[in-house]
Order: sequence, then structure tokens, then C-alpha cells
Amino acid sequence: MTDDFRPERALVIVAHPDDAEFLCGGTVARLADQGCEVFYLLATSGDKGTKDASLTPQELAAIREREQRSAAAILGVRQCFFLGYPDGELEETLELRGQIVRYIRQLQPNVVLTWDGFRTGFNHRDHRVVGRVVRDAVYPAAHDPLYHPELRELGLDPHRIDELWLFGTEEPDHHVDIGPYLERKIDALLAHESQMRGRTRDDLRKLWNARAKEVKQRTGFRFAESFRRIDNRPRPPGSAPGAVAAASRSRRRAAVRT
Ligand SMILES: [Zn+2]
Repeated sequence: MTDDFRPERALVIVAHPDDAEFLCGGTVARLADQGCEVFYLLATSGDKGTKDASLTPQELAAIREREQRSAAAILGVRQCFFLGYPDGELEETLELRGQIVRYIRQLQPNVVLTWDGFRTGFNHRDHRVVGRVVRDAVYPAAHDPLYHPELRELGLDPHRIDELWLFGTEEPDHHVDIGPYLERKIDALLAHESQMRGRTRDDLRKLWNARAKEVKQRTGFRFAESFRRIDNRPRPPGSAPGAVAAASRSRRRAAVRT
């Protein structure tokens, strides 16, 4: 990481098995190696992700959940949770928001990593929906006590995360050096055997190497994963919400003044 934020617990919330490995697998491995407990929450089990019409959705879901657990174990993830919604059919519902709030309150992450649900370019509908619902779950539903009263009855108290990290975003402002973790990310991607369509370790390495120069220019690292960080820490009344970079700049200024 580029600053002193060291989360103790992280929750990665995605639409499908393999989303996390593609978008933030190196970052997950890095966090886990730093002692952070990382959990995955998946809205679907990817039960339409095949060209093989002989498979039933249930069979495919079972295969993909197994692959997801293997990939997560390679990266050091503690546990994967599956909500079991049908692939391609996610909607922005109160029910989905409530389930996400439930896991945030139960696992008490300092940081949540998810899709940017507001990007303007093409994105899979499920990615967009997950990104938007997570945003609403994080703020304010997870930490304001009158939201989802059924969760209080289960003994799950409100929880406020510190930061939301968005991947698949058009406006990244945080780049994580994944050079030391690239091989583990590739191992984790290869664990999604049903999705690899014959791609080998060398193919995946070539993909990353082909982009290394451009990525280095853009991020300062040859191999990087990029996010937009949103600060969710409490702010003084009347102050505008801001990105983490701006918030930490003003904290530094405040430190200089005192
Ligand atoms: Zn996906």
C-alpha cells in the first residue's frame, strides 16, 4: 500500500466466481500476507458461465464454487460465502442490500473491495448491480442502526467500514504493486479451470507482460491493480464527502499546523 492504512479485515464483494481473482487477486494476496483477514462474498455462483449446453446450472454452480474456494485458498482468503442468486439476473433489491449489510455487520471489515457500479463504459449487468448495492449497503445502511432492524434481532450491531475500494473503475486513484504476487494471482486464475478455455500460465504471463510498460507509466509499477478509494470515516458536520487522497492531504496539513 502507498500509505499507512493497514486493514485488519477486508471483505471482497463480487458478482461471480473469478471476478475477484481478475480484478484484485494480487491485492488480496498482499493484504493476506500483511496479516489482514480477507473474506469473499459472492452474489451468484456463475451458473451461466459456460458454452457447454450439456451442463445444468446447478452442476455448473457446484463446479464454480469449488474452483472459487481453491482460488481463494491460494491467495490466503479465510472464507468464501455464496448468496446463490441466479447468474445474470441480479437486481437492486432491498433483499440483496440486507444480505450484504448482514455480512458487513457480521465480519466487521475495515475495507470493502467491490465493482464500480457507476462506470459509464460497458460492464456486465451483475457487476454494475453489485457495485451499486454494495455502495448503498456500506453507506449508510451498515452503520445506521434503524436500517434492517431484523439484523439487530440477530445480534448484529451496526458497523462502519473505513474505506471502500472500487475496481473496474474509470477514475482510479490508488495503485497496488502486485509484482511479488503476480505468480500467485495467475495460480488463482488457473484454479478457475472451467473459465480458462485452454489458456495456460504462459498465456496469462504474456498478457501481463504485454501491458507492463503502459501500466508502469500509468501507475509507477510494472504489475499493478488499480482502485478508486472512497473514505467512509465519520466527517465533521457540514464537510463534503471526499476521496481518500484529498482526506489524507488535509489530515497531513492539519498535522503540520498542530
Ligand atoms: Zn463477473
